[in-house]
Amino acid sequence: MAYSIVNDTCIGCGTCEAECPVSAITVGDDGKYVIDPELCIECGACAGVCPVDAPQA
Ligand code: SF4
Ligand code: SF4
Repeated sequence: MAYSIVNDTCIGCGTCEAECPVSAITVGDDGKYVIDPELCIECGACAGVCPVDAPQA
C-alpha cells in the first residue's frame, strides 16, 4: 500500500518532496503535493516530516 497525500490537508510546504529518497513526490497545478504510487517505496519519511499529517498509508 503506497502512501498518498490527502489533498485537502496539504498546505504545500514542500518538506516531504525534499525528504523523499526516490523523488516520488511532486507538486500539482493547485500547489498541493502528490505521490506517484509507482515510485513510492513506502519508507514513511514523508509522513514523518509533514507538519499536518497529510501523507497517509
Ligand atoms: Fe517517498 Fe517514502 Fe513518502 Fe513513499 S513513503 S512518497 S518513498 S518519502
Ligand atoms: Fe503537503 Fe505535508 Fe508535503 Fe508539506 S510535508 S507539502 S503539507 S504533504
